This record gives sequence, structure tokens and C-alpha cells, in this order.
Amino acid sequence: MKKLIIFGAPGAGKGTFASQIKEVIPQIAHISTGDIFRENLKNETPLGLKAKEFMEKGDLVPDDIVIDMVCDRLNKEDVKKNGFILDGFPRTLPQAEALSEITDIDLVVLLKVPEGIIIKRILGRYSCPNCGAIYNKFFMKPKKEGICDECGKTIEFKQRSDDTEETLKNRLEVFKNNTKPLIQYYKNKGIVKEIDYTKKLPQKKVKKIIKN
Ligand code: AMP
Repeated sequence: MKKLIIFGAPGAGKGTFASQIKEVIPQIAHISTGDIFRENLKNETPLGLKAKEFMEKGDLVPDDIVIDMVCDRLNKEDVKKNGFILDGFPRTLPQAEALSEITDIDLVVLLKVPEGIIIKRILGRYSCPNCGAIYNKFFMKPKKEGICDECGKTIEFKQRSDDTEETLKNRLEVFKNNTKPLIQYYKNKGIVKEIDYTKKLPQKKVKKIIKN
């Protein structure tokens, strides 16, 4: 059973890498805090409404809210049985410390991508509203224009509301100031693997990274 963290700047490809891991270990739980917040926002739950103002500005949702949410998820049976990929958590030192009290971590995969590419990835990215498959209008369009490769449903370019140029600048700042210092925190534990994720990796390499 694997307990993994995928770490990287916004747009580094954490969601894409997580789906590559799922191809190797299908039963593993993919826990994306951003996805959970977006789902709650869409359904206008109290959690979604609390997170809204922070997300819209590209700021971090306060630690206590995120930590409670992740604790709940990590306590679910499927996670305990099948392991997890954390995507977008932890993003601050208090979050990392809270996590270390709940569980240990086997591996932190650090995705490295030059900033110029990150910006194009964020401004061009979109996903299938039906199955969540990820695309990019600059780099990774569906094979057949307007049709999702994965589920065959109709799909059009629609930006995430926080993927605009204004919020992006703030999100990259927040990453540098609050989240980047965590790399050293996990390096001190000796569990970080750095990966150049400028291009999507072949599955063989993904397998090697997470199996060793
Ligand atoms: P993401 O999809 O991971 O880029 O997350 C989208 C937004 O959700 C972020 O810009 C934050 O506002 C919020 N968010 C997601 N994960 C966290 C976290 N671990 N701590 C604080 N805020 C978060």
C-alpha cells in the first residue's frame, strides 16, 4: 500500500501525474484538495462557500479548514485499505506537520517544470466536464476536436475560474512563499524524488518512480 504526495507548482502537472499513477495502481485513492473544494463550490456546500473567496483570489484556504477536510478523507476505509496520492496537500508547514501526526508518507514526488511552461499550461488547461480527463489548448488537445478521448462526450475549452492571468500571478507567489519551503522539510526526511515533468513521462518510468 502506497502513501504518496505529489508536489509541484500550480500547473506542474500534479493531476496528470496522479492519473498516470492510477494507471499503475488503479485502486489507490487520488485526493486532490483543489478538486474537493471545486466540487463543494459547485454544489454550494458550507465548505465550498467558506473556500470560495480564497480560491477566487488564488489565496490559500485557511489551514484548519483544509486539515479537517483531509483528515476526514484519510480516515475513510478505501484510503486505509488502498493507500493514497495527495495532490495539492500539504501546501503549508502547519499542514505538513498535521499530516505527519495522522500518517507517515512513503514518497514525495516533486514535479519540476520551467515557469514559462507552467504559465502556458495553466492558461491553456481545461478538463472534460463528464470524466475529468485533462487537456491543454496549446499542448494536448483531444485527438478529435471537441470530443473527449477518454469518454467520447462533447468537450470545449473552458478555463477554470482561477486559471486567469490575474490570479495566476498570486498563486505562483503563494507557492514560492508558503509551499516551496516544504521541499526542504521532506528532503530532511529523505523521501523526495525530483522529476523533470516538462513532458509527460512514459508509463514505464512512472512505474519505476513509484515502485522503487
Ligand atoms: P489546486 O487545484 O490544487 O490548484 O487548488 C485550487 C485552490 O484551492 C487553491 O488556489 C487554493 O485556494 C485551494 N486549495 C487547494 N488545496 C489547498 C491547500 N492544501 N491549502 C490551502 N488551499 C488549498
